[in-house]
Amino acid sequence: MHFDAQLLTKYSKPGPRYTSYPTAPYFSPDFGKQAWLEELSSTQNKGRDLSLYVHIPFCDTLCHYCGCNMIATRHYERATAYLDYLFREIDRLAQLVAPGRLVRQIHWGGGTPTYLHPDDIRRLFAHLKSHFTIAEDAEIGCEVDPRELSAAHITALAESGFNRLSLGVQELDSKVQQAVNRVQPEALVREVYGWMRDANIASINMDLMVGLPHQTVAGFADTLDRIIDMAPDRLAVFSYAHVPWLKKHQILIKDADLPDLAARIALQQLLLERLNDAGYVYIGMDHYAKPNDELVKAQRNKTLYRNFQGYTTHKNCDILAFGVSAISQTEEVYVQNAKNLNHYQDEIVHDNLATERGLRISAEDRLRRDAILKLMCDLELNGNAFGEQWQIDFSNHFADALVQLQPLQQDGLIERQGNHLLVTDTGRLFLRNIAMCFDAYLGQETDNTPRYSRTL
Ligand code: SF4
Repeated sequence: MHFDAQLLTKYSKPGPRYTSYPTAPYFSPDFGKQAWLEELSSTQNKGRDLSLYVHIPFCDTLCHYCGCNMIATRHYERATAYLDYLFREIDRLAQLVAPGRLVRQIHWGGGTPTYLHPDDIRRLFAHLKSHFTIAEDAEIGCEVDPRELSAAHITALAESGFNRLSLGVQELDSKVQQAVNRVQPEALVREVYGWMRDANIASINMDLMVGLPHQTVAGFADTLDRIIDMAPDRLAVFSYAHVPWLKKHQILIKDADLPDLAARIALQQLLLERLNDAGYVYIGMDHYAKPNDELVKAQRNKTLYRNFQGYTTHKNCDILAFGVSAISQTEEVYVQNAKNLNHYQDEIVHDNLATERGLRISAEDRLRRDAILKLMCDLELNGNAFGEQWQIDFSNHFADALVQLQPLQQDGLIERQGNHLLVTDTGRLFLRNIAMCFDAYLGQETDNTPRYSRTL
């Protein structure tokens, strides 16, 4: 990987993360429950496996940087009640899915899934298991907050079958932790990590964050040393997206306390160098993994894929998503549940479905999504093969994109050999900027509200 601070400055601009294409702001209430029911019935015989996502929105406290759909509450009875709604939604969707369809992947996200008490973790997982056929080697993952956690939570996850846990750390510097209202001393992180290793969890990820208030190169270097010493299998290091116009509580973070662009670039450089020296491979889009990790192998074999959970090795799955704000996906459709908890619950009471908006994507969207995914996952796009696959003349069809790519080519982010596009080592840090050249929706917004965070 080649690090170029000037290019990072030049290309830092708002852009999507492409966990879907078109991106979520283009989902519409015109695509509602009836359309989703028809899609579910028409996709039954396509032979695609399933990925299940469950959203648990509750957290004990609010982290000031939070960008998730969450509810901070100490009233556990709200979670107990929520599980009843979730069970009804699971029952309904499971009835609409052919019994032979195999579940390859399960992910619980939030909020904080480990907000659930250990007994409820077991109960929810057992409910899913009783309704779906889960593959023996399924990837079963859950996000874990080390605070307010007991060893019994990890035991409940491990005994249920979870084999991938993701531990939210963000930063170990106590001044930063206090500024973002997420205090979790290193000793606590090590203890929880130890429970996970003792439970033989096959893969442990840690989430870190760059660009937080009061974060310094010296402090983050210290954090990285301590994290590398623990040796997680994967690391996801996100840039803090300061979007108080979208996430009101982020006004609790003062602009003056945030590292400026030069400091954020220095933090990124430190991160790349330290993780590279420690033997981690940069996958792309803030994800790092040990060289023998399945994500690294999948990238090498060109079987890596990207969906709402980020990078995944499960390319041909339909996603069925449960819970408030959760997003389901088939080959041609995205649908999102109601984002407001009361609305979600009202909809479930009504007919056990909470679909609020969605999108049937066009043939052109599918083709562009494929181009974007190839660049973000395979780090190349063979235009001639792509043209044959999609029955188009690649250079004509993407004439605009190829013009937009020219400055990125001149800056050494991408190489073009005829119709073959290759992301360079420098360009791996600019995947969003490269993908944006293929996005037909950018610039079509009808209002002036900024929709995306900056690429750095
Ligand atoms: S634990 Fe996660 S979801 Fe909950 S407030 Fe913190 S960042 Fe947001």
